[in-house]
Amino acid sequence: MNKFTNISIPAEGTQIQFTDGNLVVADNPIILFIEGDGTGPDIWQASKRVFDAAVEKAYGGKKKIAWAEIYAGEKALAVYGENQWLPDETVEAIKQYKVAIKGPLTTPVGGGIRSLNVALRQLLDLFACVRPVKYYAGTPSPVKRPQDLDIVLFRENTEDVYAGIEFKSGADDAKSLIEYINKNFNKNIRQDSGIGIKPMSAFGSKRLVKKAIEFAIEHKRKNVTLVHKGNIMKFTEGAFKEWGYEVARDEFSDIIITEDDVFKLHDGKVPEGKILLKDRIADSIFQQILLRPAEYDVLATPNLNGDYLSDAAAAQVGGLGIAPGANMSYDVAIFEATHGTAPKYAGLDKINPGSVILSGVMMFEFLGWTKAGQLIEKAMKKTIRSKVVTYDFARLMTGAKEVKTSEFASAIISNL
Ligand code: NAP
Repeated sequence: MNKFTNISIPAEGTQIQFTDGNLVVADNPIILFIEGDGTGPDIWQASKRVFDAAVEKAYGGKKKIAWAEIYAGEKALAVYGENQWLPDETVEAIKQYKVAIKGPLTTPVGGGIRSLNVALRQLLDLFACVRPVKYYAGTPSPVKRPQDLDIVLFRENTEDVYAGIEFKSGADDAKSLIEYINKNFNKNIRQDSGIGIKPMSAFGSKRLVKKAIEFAIEHKRKNVTLVHKGNIMKFTEGAFKEWGYEVARDEFSDIIITEDDVFKLHDGKVPEGKILLKDRIADSIFQQILLRPAEYDVLATPNLNGDYLSDAAAAQVGGLGIAPGANMSYDVAIFEATHGTAPKYAGLDKINPGSVILSGVMMFEFLGWTKAGQLIEKAMKKTIRSKVVTYDFARLMTGAKEVKTSEFASAIISNL
């Protein structure tokens, strides 16, 4: 029985289950989608056509997604009423049905919610933001060898300065906190300061690093890098690094080898079958991925560093228009556009749907429907190589044929 007020669950679909640590996906899984605001509807309609066509092509009708729309952002206001930016039943549905994909959402101005994306991550404890960044031939890039970058970033999603613990300059709570700290810890914070708290726990850091290492093992990646600013923020970022090494030592000592040990014990060569674990200071990693991208593979980062680094890395291979992402806990995953709503292009059928389409590729991999994901990836490569692209790429390429959002999707479908 459908217990939701405004969510219609398709009768022909089967609920995805999480049993004994494994996702159980039937041939007709119910997958939730949030269209998104601004350019969201244009992008979503194009992407959904690509997903359905790829599944049909890969499995000849044996598998089919049963889509169910859920609401957040401006569409939720229209369906649920005033201030209902993120209805409770949207969160409930994601908890129950496990997998969702979404377009970009407007960030409400004023009101109780700072950001719908941050709220979703916190309410569902989606502790890992996963962003693969790699090059698709033909994509305009500002660097000489964009093909050398092929990384997957795991960004901690629930802690750090993004935890939302902030106090406004001059407000009573900020003043009393400043007074408390200055008095009890012999510090000298200026009275007119705004205050933000940066909590980073062993629990939060270790589960993130563990997920990154598990991914590296499963996908036969060569190395994992812990990114941190521990030289300055020793007890938060520095601890993140220490906890990362600790979880590797405690749980993966059979397969992980640290950079120290490689130099001490193996003449600088990683032994066959081992995955290298290293760490880099946050500012240096921005240089490293530009100058020596091939040396990096899986990266595990605290929240703020990861936010900056994932966009910077995406810029090397074509920008946010085609950067996919996912926010995950152990059993729930939301795949999403990494860019915003680009409101000035809303309804113009103009924007690049690549970010949501490639997020779908990640989703298919998560579901174990790898063939559908591979078909899309190949078809998208072929489309970009043939210079059939949306405006954002066309303006940076010579000889490109600029097409609309929907036409780009159609081109991918015909290349499947
Ligand atoms: P934005 O929507 O990402 O757009 C900024 C610019 O990036 C666009 O004007 C466009 O550049 C380019 N762009 C973004 N997506 C593109 C795509 N798919 N294809 C091609 N170009 C693309 O950032 P914003 O204007 O700062 O934010 C607008 C709203 O989105 C805000 O409410 C913000 O809070 C929200 N937001 C949501 C998310 C999310 O839901 N994940 C993420 C970030 C921001 P040109 O103008 O150069 O063509």
